[in-house]
Amino acid sequence: MTQTWTNWSGRQTAEIQEVVRPTTERDLVESLETAAKNGWSVRAVGASHSHSRIAAPDAMLVELDGWQGVLSTDAAAQQATVKSGTRIFQLGEPLFKAGLALRNQGDIDRQSVAGATATGTHGTGPTLGNLSSSVHSLRVALASGEIINCDATSGDLFEVARHSLGGLGLVVDVTLDLRSTYRLHETLWTEHPTSVFGRIDELTAATRHFEFFWMPKLDKCACKSLAETDADVDELVDNKLERIGWSHNIISSTRDDKHTEMEYSVAAADGPACFMELRDMIRNDFPELEWPIEYRTVKSDDLWISAASGRETVTISAHQDITLDDRDIFEACEDVFRRYNGRPHWGKAHYQTGAELAELYPRYRDWWQVRDSHDPDGRFVTPYLESLRP
Ligand SMILES: Cc1cc2nc3c(=O)[nH]c(=O)nc-3n(C[C@H](O)[C@H](O)[C@H](O)COP(=O)(O)OP(=O)(O)OC[C@H]3O[C@@H](n4cnc5c(N)ncnc54)[C@H](O)[C@@H]3O)c2cc1C
Repeated sequence: MTQTWTNWSGRQTAEIQEVVRPTTERDLVESLETAAKNGWSVRAVGASHSHSRIAAPDAMLVELDGWQGVLSTDAAAQQATVKSGTRIFQLGEPLFKAGLALRNQGDIDRQSVAGATATGTHGTGPTLGNLSSSVHSLRVALASGEIINCDATSGDLFEVARHSLGGLGLVVDVTLDLRSTYRLHETLWTEHPTSVFGRIDELTAATRHFEFFWMPKLDKCACKSLAETDADVDELVDNKLERIGWSHNIISSTRDDKHTEMEYSVAAADGPACFMELRDMIRNDFPELEWPIEYRTVKSDDLWISAASGRETVTISAHQDITLDDRDIFEACEDVFRRYNGRPHWGKAHYQTGAELAELYPRYRDWWQVRDSHDPDGRFVTPYLESLRP
């Protein structure tokens, strides 16, 4: 009997033949044998928080809620090995007890480690890379059933594995590069966009993390900065606009209001002009938009298909309510992003074809070639992933 999968927003659904909930490595390998026998594609999901259909299964769904936990920590090497289905929020306390912390986190901490790294999930900060760039090594169950170890010495395979879009195999566990624990001082304020962009370089450089949500109806930016501090956590300031705490308690927020989202990355130098053009377009063409536009920064990296590959980056996200049609506004936003050579977030809405993506990522065709060589039967290629083939 078929079952229905739904993503976090409820916007994406899929009918599936079989759901596997592995608790042992043998279960993972057996699921691949079953899929091969039936000619099914296989899709692992973490928290199903992707807005695009990148997590949508087609036949077999491997759900990793029973595949969570920190396996080991190494304070000297500043690394930890975790099961792939571990949610980011589940890392906070165990890492803290080992004197370790993630270098950065996204807006929320509900994603799984494998899901977040598969799509290049990021937070904000010009000196801080996305989560995929913190992957030191992984173990992956390939379509053949072989479980391989993979790190920087594995060459091209590592490039696909650490930012896999779920397309290489089932990630078994991930070793992350971390740092020692740190405290952050959060400050919140509102400011007009013209004023923000009058001092955007200063704001971006002033702290580790700066970001804002522009609220179109008010034409105001809800700004947030997080500065690393040695202040004692006991000195917690709690006037609602400032607080101090350990990084894992401060960086991420709660986002319970269901929405859909488009996000593009542009070169950091183009961020202000791109945002201002988007703001003008929304004020003229979509004055009824209630949801904010988010503006963040990400450090350049060397990953083949990272949205920050080879360039210092600004990310700009548009949101829409799930009860409303998002196509018109997202297409209009995408028109603006295209003018700035924007690269779409793999876990969010976009309308790019495979050939267009190959123009945006110099190593995109290589990514596919390496992927195909390890999975010639396309066991990990769902219809959506196939639609992105160059
Ligand atoms: C409320 C909300 C806030 C968000 N905030 C941010 C943010 O701040 N920054 C940002 O960059 N993004 C953000 N996102 C997007 C989100 O981080 C990504 O879509 C991320 O991939 C979701 O993680 P997940 O565990 O839900 O993965 P899923 O959506 O379940 O899967 C994503 C991909 O990972 C693959 N995958 C998962 N587990 C495995 C595994 N074990 N082996 C192989 N492949 C696997 C899936 O097949 C799929 O291709 C947000 C999304 C929401 C809904």
